[in-house]
Amino acid sequence: MGSAYPTIAADAIARFQRLRGRRVAFVTGTDEHGEKIALAAAKRGMAPKEHCDDVVASYKQLWKDLEIGYDSFIRTTDAKHEALVCQVLERVWERGDIYKANYEGYYCVDCEEYKDEGDMDADKNCPVHRRPCVNRKEENYFFALSKYQAQLEELCSNPDFVQPESRRNEVLGWVKAGVRDFSISRAAVEWGIPIPRDPKQTVYVWFDALNGYLSGLLAEGAGGSPEALASAGWPASLHIIGKDILRFHAVYWPAMLMSAGLPVPRRVYGHGFLTKDGLKMGKSLGNVLEPTALVGAYGPDAVRYYFLREIVFGQDGDFSEERFRNIVNANLANDVGNLLNRTLNLLKKNCGGALPIDAAAVPADHPLRAMAVEKAPAVAAAYERLRFDQACAEALTISGRGNQLLEETAPWTAFKKGSEEDKAAAAAVLVAVLEAVRVVAVLLSPVTPGLSARIYQQLGFTQQQFEALTWADGEWGALQAGHAMPQPQPVMQRLEGDFVTEPAPAAAAAVGAKA
Ligand SMILES: [Zn+2]
Repeated sequence: MGSAYPTIAADAIARFQRLRGRRVAFVTGTDEHGEKIALAAAKRGMAPKEHCDDVVASYKQLWKDLEIGYDSFIRTTDAKHEALVCQVLERVWERGDIYKANYEGYYCVDCEEYKDEGDMDADKNCPVHRRPCVNRKEENYFFALSKYQAQLEELCSNPDFVQPESRRNEVLGWVKAGVRDFSISRAAVEWGIPIPRDPKQTVYVWFDALNGYLSGLLAEGAGGSPEALASAGWPASLHIIGKDILRFHAVYWPAMLMSAGLPVPRRVYGHGFLTKDGLKMGKSLGNVLEPTALVGAYGPDAVRYYFLREIVFGQDGDFSEERFRNIVNANLANDVGNLLNRTLNLLKKNCGGALPIDAAAVPADHPLRAMAVEKAPAVAAAYERLRFDQACAEALTISGRGNQLLEETAPWTAFKKGSEEDKAAAAAVLVAVLEAVRVVAVLLSPVTPGLSARIYQQLGFTQQQFEALTWADGEWGALQAGHAMPQPQPVMQRLEGDFVTEPAPAAAAAVGAKA
């Protein structure tokens, strides 16, 4: 779930920006070089590339299952990526920012990073992986990061660059403590891009991988000139990354770009970590959260919704399968799905399944219309701030008001024994509720694209009409009199049946309960 979570968030923001009419280039991919990958491949008795092909195939399947609509999937073994890395390296070299030196230090292969004395414990263990770092001594090429000290301080002081704020303070702390040159080549690692000026060495995996943000934008054969990159969309508006790799993205990467004469990304957003049932996930605990199992059992909308609705983006978050089911059932199956289904059934029974009036004829001061009109801009503002939780909550207040309206007005009573006037008023309630659900479908579509498409289908629209939506379609008034609705069917199944994730380990759960 560690990779799926930020990818879901990136997809939601990409979908939102496309709805807003902006040109979007959503790049994701895989870092395939380096010692860690070579070791993992060897363990499986495979060549590194073969191992990576396998990993890529499973990621691509997972992204398909989760309805991740990326524009580009870049592999660092792609020819265009390798060419781009060599180009950037050459520009940095020409700038005079690369020199050769001996280096001795403690290296964590899992981090692919040399650790400072202060980062490790007395036994030289990596603080992240809790495994011993290995002493290494080799002659490497170094990038003169320290030349960019002043520029990095200025960049990281900009409140828009690193977010959220707590992360910015952390990064600013590192930078102010003084940045140090880092080695950008490895003499002992074969599985990497050879340094063109010295093919006995390969490019350090992070120097290699970060350039994927550039190569991922480029069409085949487009070249990596600053002009080609600019017309492909560089600089990026946003990088979404785990907080554990902030140093690479917020310090190393901008300096590399400055050295290569390229603009820096506008924003680097460090998201939080996930726990399961209140516990850190780990193979040893047997509680790793597999997105494949979740999406297989519950479908993409439920998974996307839970992680975006339940976790404040940027903060750490927790998954419990029970809470996941409760939230999805309450919000999507009941508040939205059941509201739609109930109303369509009432319409079918009492109005023959076609709308009696235009939604635009619902008075502007009608409580449901007023709520929908008020909430649409609030939802947009929340997406802009990457507050997916607030975007969902604001959208759900509209369906909440719709449910309340049905209870207050009880249109079924009017249809049974009311006057003609009462019946017309009851029919208008149904139209208002259906229009409100349509608005909710548009507003939630960055988070739950499949559910929103099914709602649109239930409201008598085609898939093409759904795919042509823009954010402006979230305004009130699209449903028209005479518009025919198909046979009512549930749009969101309730989540039930056997649990599919590992239960919390008993011993650890007891400790967790005490805490
Ligand atoms: Zn480590």
